[in-house]
Amino acid sequence: MEVSELLRESIRQKPASKRGARQKRSSPKNMVRMNLNENAYGMSDLVKSTLMQDVAENYMYQDFYAYDIRKKLADLYHLSPDNILIGSGSSAVIDMLGEVFINYGDEILYCSPTYEAFPDMVSDNGGKRVEVPLTPDWKYDLDGMLAAVTDKTKMAIVVNPNNPTGTYLPSAEVEAFVRKLPPHVLAVVDEAYFEYVDDPNHYSLIRMIQEGYDRPLIVLRTFSKIYGLAGLRIGYAVGDPDLIDEMMKACQAWNVSRIASLAATTALDEQEYVQKVKAENVKNRKIVYEGLLALGCYAVKPAANFIYFDTHRDPKAVSQGMTEHGILISTPNACFNRVTVGTPEQNRDFLKALGDVMKALPLRDGEAPDKAV
Ligand SMILES: *Cc1c(COP(=O)(O)O)cnc(C)c1O
Repeated sequence: MEVSELLRESIRQKPASKRGARQKRSSPKNMVRMNLNENAYGMSDLVKSTLMQDVAENYMYQDFYAYDIRKKLADLYHLSPDNILIGSGSSAVIDMLGEVFINYGDEILYCSPTYEAFPDMVSDNGGKRVEVPLTPDWKYDLDGMLAAVTDKTKMAIVVNPNNPTGTYLPSAEVEAFVRKLPPHVLAVVDEAYFEYVDDPNHYSLIRMIQEGYDRPLIVLRTFSKIYGLAGLRIGYAVGDPDLIDEMMKACQAWNVSRIASLAATTALDEQEYVQKVKAENVKNRKIVYEGLLALGCYAVKPAANFIYFDTHRDPKAVSQGMTEHGILISTPNACFNRVTVGTPEQNRDFLKALGDVMKALPLRDGEAPDKAV
């Protein structure tokens, strides 16, 4: 049997992906998880106790249209539930965007490196990846993206703060960029780490939708990061009701579990918890950032709950070495590692282990010894 002959053309042509590789192995157990940008403090006590009380009710199907959580979000943003689409994680919403909007050959524009779900979604649906390099300070290059827009551009994606680099752009710059896009381009702004940005002028581009922006714009948010609900899988899109209604066509039936909706609805009521986690993270990420510099690493100043850094050694070997110390970190590419900011204790252990791992590894070819520890 030739399986490849059964395949949809886009899947046949899809390059190997990190996501694909990850689906073939499970993550090691009993490790300190500093590789997936989860919230080191977990979910709040109120969410935990609310879920415990509801466990036995989960023999019932949940509300088909996730109305409670959509209504809650709509009230929060002074929008209508018709402006909100719930997905089993914002990654599932990203997949819906591809399924609903991409035709074969459509150009999808974003910067590279960025969140890996985007290139996957483009290829899954036969779109063409148009990747503009980040600026030298690792930020989204919005001018570069505008220059790359053509008649075939279907979607322009901005991840802000960006993953894996942890950089962010002031919202006003992203808003100006969105307004400059021609009307045939759907703007997608992924704000998965929005709550971690420590800048009083930073605002969500949901504001443009509240103000009645009349061109295609989708803002993505998630409960996986600061709300600490990654394993429950719940995220959402905010947009014009016409766009949201079309996206519903690609929404799986019963796509968000009853318990995930309940957790998210409860978590939204507890903004003090979000503020507490944010304050801890802002404090701790500075300590980790400075610790990395003290070890001789190059590190990018973080705006979210993770740090992109270069040890001047093979990042795969560094990750492997850290695994042997019981700590998982990520290896986004051939130069960099990425670490999630943890609790103070985890961060101390991380920096200590990294120092040991670096000492045991040779510098990469061509790296100046003066950069070494
Ligand atoms: C983690 C992350 C997400 C969220 O993924 P979920 O599917 O909601 O868990 C979305 N975008 C970016 C940039 C991320 O890093």
